[in-house]
Amino acid sequence: MSLDGKVAVVTGGSRGIGRSICLRLASMGAVVYINYVSRTEAALETRKRILADGGKAEIVEFDVSDSVAVTGAFKNIAAEAGPVEILVNNAGITRDGLMARMKEADWDAVIDINLKGVFLCSKVASRGMMKKKWGRIVNISSVSGFAGNPGQVNYAAAKAGLTGLTKAMAREYGSRNITVNSVAPGYIQTEMTDLLDEDIKEQLKSEIPLGYLGNTEDVAGAVAYLISEDGRYVTGQSLHVNGGMYM
Ligand code: NDP
Repeated sequence: MSLDGKVAVVTGGSRGIGRSICLRLASMGAVVYINYVSRTEAALETRKRILADGGKAEIVEFDVSDSVAVTGAFKNIAAEAGPVEILVNNAGITRDGLMARMKEADWDAVIDINLKGVFLCSKVASRGMMKKKWGRIVNISSVSGFAGNPGQVNYAAAKAGLTGLTKAMAREYGSRNITVNSVAPGYIQTEMTDLLDEDIKEQLKSEIPLGYLGNTEDVAGAVAYLISEDGRYVTGQSLHVNGGMYM
């Protein structure tokens, strides 16, 4: 399906899963704004790859948890390219630690970026979508938000929160032809999972029916489906991309 010059913002698009989503949406014809917060080089590399494939992309730096920065960035994008019609809320961090020892700052940082950031970006982006009477929002959740995970009370709470946010938004925006869904990856090979010890990775693989970690394209494909015409009647859902580790 062609996304036909539609303006897309992918938060955390500089690397990992976000980069693959940017590449995929650009290959479908979208003008992709690659958001990042600190790694300009990585964002430029994503843009370079898109341009090399004949696509259109720009980079845009802002912290998704900073409401002033978010509002300003979306305003600039709309002025430059037109209203944002596709938003993929992918930016996320982990600050793992067992609950008894978890610092309040680590709780706050993960909730602010992984949950509040989605609220802020979606609130601003949805204004343009409502004017266009068409929009697609995809929130990148996690298996941790469904199954829980020791050492991740902050992350699991933020991702579980996304499920409620996604459903409530889907109900609010459905009449405007805006779909809101989430994609919940299992263990995907990125810098986030590179942090895990080898023995933990081996143990994880043993819990995955398909027997291997997914790659970033597996997630990008699910996002592409939800954004494409094929996914137009799907809203308020969570699509699990996890090799069967959680059913
Ligand atoms: P990475 O750590 O590889 O990349 C994180 C991305 O988020 C980077 O682009 C980073 O930008 C950006 N980012 C971080 N903080 C902010 C912020 N405050 N504002 C804007 N951008 C920010 O992550 P992954 O690709 O592994 O994960 C992407 C998403 O998928 C996350 O939401 C994660 O929770 C989720 N997920 C990942 C899984 C996995 O196995 N990898 C499993 C389940 C879910 P910069 O480059 O500038 O730092």
